Amino acid sequence: MKSIIVIGGGLVGASAALRLQLAGIATTLVDPGDVRRAASFGNAGHIGTEQVSPWSSWENVRRSPRSSFLVGGPLDFRWRDAAMVAPWTQRFLASCGPAAFARGQAALAAILTDAMGAWHRIAALAGEPDLVIPHGHATVWMSHEAAERGRGALGEAPAGPAKTREMTRAELDRYASVLRATPAAGVLFEGTGQVSEPQAVRDAIFAAFVNAGGEIVADSAAHVSADGRVTLGSGGVRKADAILIAAGAWSGELMRQLGAATPLIGERGYHLQSAETDWPFDLPTTVFEETFVIFSRFTSGLRATSFLEFGSPGAPGDARKWRLLQRRIADLGVRFSATPERWVGARPTLPDYVPAIGRLARAPNVFYAFGHAHLGLTMAPITAELVLALATEQTPSIDLAPFKIERFG
Ligand SMILES: Cc1cc2nc3c(=O)[nH]c(=O)nc-3n(C[C@H](O)[C@H](O)[C@H](O)COP(=O)(O)OP(=O)(O)OC[C@H]3O[C@@H](n4cnc5c(N)ncnc54)[C@H](O)[C@@H]3O)c2cc1C
Repeated sequence: MKSIIVIGGGLVGASAALRLQLAGIATTLVDPGDVRRAASFGNAGHIGTEQVSPWSSWENVRRSPRSSFLVGGPLDFRWRDAAMVAPWTQRFLASCGPAAFARGQAALAAILTDAMGAWHRIAALAGEPDLVIPHGHATVWMSHEAAERGRGALGEAPAGPAKTREMTRAELDRYASVLRATPAAGVLFEGTGQVSEPQAVRDAIFAAFVNAGGEIVADSAAHVSADGRVTLGSGGVRKADAILIAAGAWSGELMRQLGAATPLIGERGYHLQSAETDWPFDLPTTVFEETFVIFSRFTSGLRATSFLEFGSPGAPGDARKWRLLQRRIADLGVRFSATPERWVGARPTLPDYVPAIGRLARAPNVFYAFGHAHLGLTMAPITAELVLALATEQTPSIDLAPFKIERFG
């Protein structure tokens, strides 16, 4: 293969484009260029190598009434998108059984094993090794009762290449400078980390791609053909030897044009960000489990993320969620702007929470990499390495059979 068109410039598409271009394949990246549209812009920046358990589990189904937004939890549905949510939910439930869960866990454990290594490698390729900060992360509880419950569940859960340990009193006391009260307890994960700023990382990868001779076309792919032809939204046509579909939560429509059943949904998340902050850079990403809020210190400020809202990827945000998040930040006593930056975006989520990475059986000139759900930042660089192996007919570092889109029929 001499040329490829990568559709989608989120972290997955951008990382793959860089790898492909550096391997000598003339690569064109098609993305409309609205950076805030991508989940890769607004995420929590956490390199979550510990998350080897798919969210599709009976445990999460049992917990869902308590997790509902109606009772202050993170979980919600866009009722206007019921026609989309219902069939996806059916498939999700079918993925929750013990055998499907175990298959998903094995697949995630395999791909996450070297996810941190792949991050270091791509940051080095982009010439900016400091974009990756491997300082672990923390889950904390403000009350002893919640700590008792949460600690047990965390202790039993497999954590892939990450290691966990109880936080010391001195480590918990560090939060006294940024919270109204010190957490009652916490667990520190080692072998995980964060990026310095999700968009800065994406920009660095784009810059390295262009530097290596890659072409960026600011447009959207309206139609794709199995022969490598892409019709752009503006009407033009591009043609290459192959196509990579990496358009995040928008990949489903393009895959359906190629006849591939793709039950993909937008699992929407929200963030508030404040440039005004006293949160130190060396306090790692911290999950406040009781209130489902994650704080990440980026170069541009402090970001708080939350919520899992299933529905259409591009729908407007639900203002109640930003208001609730702002209240929770204030309740914790975290210094934050009174008018923070608001963002909503969609995780690309397949019913079994395993990404789709492969080469389309019915159209071998088409490669795909999407559906990374909660772990798209974590897995983008390793996904890029796997796509490169497929595109150059090398043996991928892990078995990609569980990642095939054909598993959905
Ligand atoms: C609140 C929140 C917090 C998160 N936190 C984390 C985290 O801490 N760690 C982690 O690993 N993951 C996290 N995630 C998940 C992660 O952000 C996503 O899995 C990841 O960004 C998906 O990357 P992507 O490149 O597949 O898609 P996206 O980043 O969504 O990019 C898709 C791109 O494709 C473009 N596109 C769409 N349609 C077309 C078309 N027809 N033609 C051309 N281009 C098109 C879009 O404009 C967009 O630029 C979080 C997500 C959310 C919402």
